[in-house]
Amino acid sequence: MDNKRLARLLFPNVDKTPEYYEKLYPPRNLPEGAKVTRLGPSPTGFIHLGNLFGAITDERLAHQSGGVFFLRIEDTDNKREVEGAVDVIVDTLSYFGVEFDEGAGKSGETGAYGPYWQRQRADIYHCFAKKLVEDGMAYPCFCTEEELADMRRRQEAEKANPGYYGKWAVHRDWDLEHIEAALAEGKPYVLRFRAPDPEGKYFKIRDAIRGELSMPVNDIDFVLLKSDGIPTYHFAHVVDDHLMRTTHVVRGEEWLGTLPFHIALFAALGWKAPVYCHTAQLMKIDGGIKRKLSKRKDPELSLDYYKNEGYLPGAVWEYLMTVLNSNFEDWRLAHPTAPIDDFKFTPNKMSVSGSLFDIDKLNDVSKNYLATLDSETVYKCVTDWAKVCDPEYYELLTRDKDFSTKMISIGRGGKKPRKDISHWKQSKEFYSFFFDELFKIEDDFPENVSDSDRKAILAKYLETYDQNDDQSQWFDKVRAIAEDLGFAPQPKMYKQSPELYKGHVGDVSAVIRVAVTGRQNSPDLWCVQQVLGEKRSLERVRKHI
Ligand code: GLU
Repeated sequence: MDNKRLARLLFPNVDKTPEYYEKLYPPRNLPEGAKVTRLGPSPTGFIHLGNLFGAITDERLAHQSGGVFFLRIEDTDNKREVEGAVDVIVDTLSYFGVEFDEGAGKSGETGAYGPYWQRQRADIYHCFAKKLVEDGMAYPCFCTEEELADMRRRQEAEKANPGYYGKWAVHRDWDLEHIEAALAEGKPYVLRFRAPDPEGKYFKIRDAIRGELSMPVNDIDFVLLKSDGIPTYHFAHVVDDHLMRTTHVVRGEEWLGTLPFHIALFAALGWKAPVYCHTAQLMKIDGGIKRKLSKRKDPELSLDYYKNEGYLPGAVWEYLMTVLNSNFEDWRLAHPTAPIDDFKFTPNKMSVSGSLFDIDKLNDVSKNYLATLDSETVYKCVTDWAKVCDPEYYELLTRDKDFSTKMISIGRGGKKPRKDISHWKQSKEFYSFFFDELFKIEDDFPENVSDSDRKAILAKYLETYDQNDDQSQWFDKVRAIAEDLGFAPQPKMYKQSPELYKGHVGDVSAVIRVAVTGRQNSPDLWCVQQVLGEKRSLERVRKHI
């Protein structure tokens, strides 16, 4: 077979050589050990937690090593493209603190290894497809959909492995005459890889996350170019990551199955394969069962969810680190205040069996994170969020900045700060009792206090209350009320002789707490009243007498 002639026939318009592109995209001039990583999303307009998960991995590997992290848009699937999708990718990732050094951007692209939109790289793919044909490593296949379906049926009947290979690869050995005739008839064709005869059954490869893997040597003549000349993922991945000089490919484990394709293709083109990092699926526990996160069932898969709910990007990043690297939590315990970038991220500390995403754990991590912020910062962040996502809350927060900042400062700072707030939407529920518009009695009064005692407690409280009392003067008065009405002034006295009392001082303060905050649990009541002011606190008390 005259492969050169076939190559000219199939690619009459290719005027560049592989050498031309090798020179155009020379190896990057980077320090020893610097990693080059990329994110290759499809522009579907939906960017999810899995993307962020991968992006953080890419970002850390590149930036921790003085390397480069770039964005490549994998837009070979026309049908899935959504307008403005690149803006969504860049803006959303940037919101979470992930920035690209190079590649596709909101207003065009930057970098010397482009184009970074795959659809603009047709000439490049065709040049290397031509080279593979010249080398006898690729051939046109004119099988119709029906013929392929028929092949699959026969393979099933024979219990043969599926795919286009060996005796099933009927166009593999077509001679030039047949091919020319089919081309002359205008028959559509795909370009297939000609899998070399496998030497041995398995090969070994080291995955940076999974360690050494043993994989079957590829024998499939998989498709390189579809009938419209657009490359498959497999071909585009190999050509792009070689020419863009990617050193580490971080991608989902769904690509492990076709890794033998990619390795075979790198070998056929005489290129060194990158280091692969196949990340595990994000899973959640649902009704006791571990399952993949799903777009339909799990709103938390979408990154917009975190924006809309008002999670701080730093908190989400902090949480994702605990999911990404098994040693992060220990590191954080040892370095509670260190900047997160000080943590040395390593792929071999990533899960191989499915990373568990747990929103309750995110809330815990986030509460710890938010507890470290000062009141001014919290005020700024919560109002920025509310302005966009909850105008009613924004109104309430900003109508008296001093009041809101004092409210936020309760329990903040000190050795043991309170950990009440996980995200801004939840902060509205938490702070609601500070605003008359949102205040309501949410909890019952303690049931062991009779109606008449409740009224008596609150009436005495009104009588003796003085806004100028300090915390201990205030509490002494509460104790006195308890004693007057037959409640033990100290819980331990009640415990010793319950028959002597109606209850203890804790019940008395619970009555006051429910009246003032609507809840049995609240931050320090004295502090709350200092913020609410005398008038509002006592009005609330008066309502229950
Ligand atoms: N476009 C591919 C995807 O979204 C990228 C996979 C890769 O990173 O190689 O799954």
